[in-house]
Amino acid sequence: MSMLRFKVVEEAFDRKAVPVEIPEERPEQYYARYVFNRAKMYQYLPKKTYEALVNAIDNKQPLSRALADSVADGMKRWAIDNGARHYTHWFHPLTDGTAEKHDSFIDHDGKGGVVEEFSGKLLVQQEPDASSFPNGGIRNTFEARGYSAWDISSPAFILDKTLCIPTIFISYTGESLDYKTPLLRSLNAVDKAGTAVARLFDPNVNHVISYLGWEQEYFLVDEALYSARPDLALTGRTLMGHESAKNQQLEDHYFGAIPSRVEAFMLDLEIECHKLGIPAKTRHNEVAPNQFELAPIYEETNLANDHNLLLMSIMSEVARRHNFRVLLHEKPFAGINGSGKHNNWSLGTDTGVQLFSPGKTPEANLQFITFIANVMAAVHKHNALLKASISSATNAHRLGANEAPPAIISIFTGSQLASILDQIENSSDARLADLTSKEGVTLGLSQIPEIMMDNTDRNRTSPFAFTGNRFEFRAVGSSANCASAMLALNAAVADQLNSFKEAVDRRMAAGQEKRQAIIEEVKKLIIESKPIHFDGNGYSDEWKEEAARRGLDCETSIPKIFDAYLSPDSIDMFGRTGVLSKIELEARNEVKWEMYTKKVQIEARVLGDLAINHILPVATRYQSILVDNLVKLKSLFPDSKHESLLAADLQTIEKISYNMSIIKSKVDEMVEARKKANKITSEREKAIAYHDTVVPAIDIIRRHIDKLELMVDNEMWPLPKYRELLFIR
Ligand code: ADP
Ligand code: MG
Repeated sequence: MSMLRFKVVEEAFDRKAVPVEIPEERPEQYYARYVFNRAKMYQYLPKKTYEALVNAIDNKQPLSRALADSVADGMKRWAIDNGARHYTHWFHPLTDGTAEKHDSFIDHDGKGGVVEEFSGKLLVQQEPDASSFPNGGIRNTFEARGYSAWDISSPAFILDKTLCIPTIFISYTGESLDYKTPLLRSLNAVDKAGTAVARLFDPNVNHVISYLGWEQEYFLVDEALYSARPDLALTGRTLMGHESAKNQQLEDHYFGAIPSRVEAFMLDLEIECHKLGIPAKTRHNEVAPNQFELAPIYEETNLANDHNLLLMSIMSEVARRHNFRVLLHEKPFAGINGSGKHNNWSLGTDTGVQLFSPGKTPEANLQFITFIANVMAAVHKHNALLKASISSATNAHRLGANEAPPAIISIFTGSQLASILDQIENSSDARLADLTSKEGVTLGLSQIPEIMMDNTDRNRTSPFAFTGNRFEFRAVGSSANCASAMLALNAAVADQLNSFKEAVDRRMAAGQEKRQAIIEEVKKLIIESKPIHFDGNGYSDEWKEEAARRGLDCETSIPKIFDAYLSPDSIDMFGRTGVLSKIELEARNEVKWEMYTKKVQIEARVLGDLAINHILPVATRYQSILVDNLVKLKSLFPDSKHESLLAADLQTIEKISYNMSIIKSKVDEMVEARKKANKITSEREKAIAYHDTVVPAIDIIRRHIDKLELMVDNEMWPLPKYRELLFIR
């Protein structure tokens, strides 16, 4: 019966590392080979076109039609020179991942043959059918057509012989149907707002840039084992499986050597990344067995996010070359750590100042503390929204477990920054004036970087931590599109910076000196946002109570967490910054609820099928062996004084029956719960019903299957066990 299991386990354990084709050139030479970057533009475009395009990119100007034709022509020649045969508009719909529709370059030449064509029109705009993508009702209210339009701030690239053009995806009436559009709007908003505030300190600043450095965690599982686990294949996580006797207790994986098969995969992936201009830099084991991480050098947020999405898709491909499957699910295995995607985020000016890095002068330090205080205020005010921005059916399994950021947003500052915040908060007016004088006290800020660096990472329980020169938003899920978190964060901070600037302006108009006005507003923000500041243990129960007292959002139901997008505060903030309209927010929430329901629904179906068709039959068979045995024993020892000899079998039979009966009745209950929930028309209510009635059934069924796993004969158990899935040799 369990032949398949033993066959795949053997196959997986026998597997050797797949040799990697290492280019003869150095990374410097092949880096960004498949990217239409400025060097390629310079080489393939007429000089005038090149200059106009670079100018449009730098100044965020639209592309004229005439220019588009010329750019398209050069891009096509470059693509064909590099083996491309197709082109596609590459965009990020509201589902996971990316979408693309490939078209061949060929067109009729009017003489019975074909030519390879690519016009400016095709480069700049396409019309994918919007109705095939989630749109939260926008299509019904408006028009089925959607447009994809080239985002010139992100360079085109070649993937699998296809020229990919990064695009935004919007409806006929201009509503965003993707992640990139609002992300770009939020970057614009934070640029404008940040520049105005940075100019209080240096009038030469013209732009504020948002940076993102993501750290991608993932699991690898051998392909053969993966294919023998329908739950992994269909839902991305194991819906059953008893903990392995050894998992991460010894903490030996984090520091351990990378297995050679994995090392080959990582090297291969790194080479692919570099060819595509993804600056992959760090790779290492993570805490859990089979868990790893890849991190690049940080980049401007829009590009960094494109690179993360691209990485997620090439990862899967490269993994298959090495007979692995990549698991990007936030919690593929119960009982061991899940995967996140820390979003290291910072703001910097076009004059080269890192705004979250303490400076060397009192002036620079005042700027630093101004930006820090504004971030804290924004995160405080919008903590519920930020939590919504990282929430999903899959990340739900990770949040709130004692291994990942808790389901409450707070900021960890570390003791150095905390003491500075305290000093400002408790300063008398005279002392504040002192702090801002030209030769004023430096607050000890200049020593921060060194001290922060080795002190900050210690608090791993914080979802949002200051790490010396940036903030690390750790609650983001491993499978998420970072844009969701980044657009909410950048928009919230932009809005906060705008109101800060207005407040400072008002004070100055009333005759206050600039530095005095700034520090008084900063002090106000520090006091107001105090509740978000928490350096303690985010996993403790005391924190949950304390956070509730502080008025932070403590909701744990994912469908209800999404409500934060539609709170008056969120709608106003997104409206003021121009990042998302109310219509868009409503539509996007419909999609979020629908996605939540669908994911739970699929899990419930898969689990029901596995329970009824895989697990119960095996448990029954094993049980009947025991019953047979018992009957035979009884005839051998009919005497009542031998009763104790029969007790063991009897007890096991009883336990198996007990677990089986619960599984059976819970599966029935779960099916009923689904039927009932499916009748609900409101997407929100339906998602809540799935959360409240289907999810708990999934958990209970699993628990009892896992108990059976410990009782049933190992030879008969049909699915690869955790101990087989989790230790790559
Ligand atoms: P960790 O201690 O969290 O492992 P790393 O040094 O590996 O830290 O860096 C994690 C990520 O943070 C990398 O992608 C790195 O490029 C990024 N990073 C570093 N500085 C900044 C910054 N100022 N803004 C944004 N990201 C940054
Ligand atoms: Mg980190």
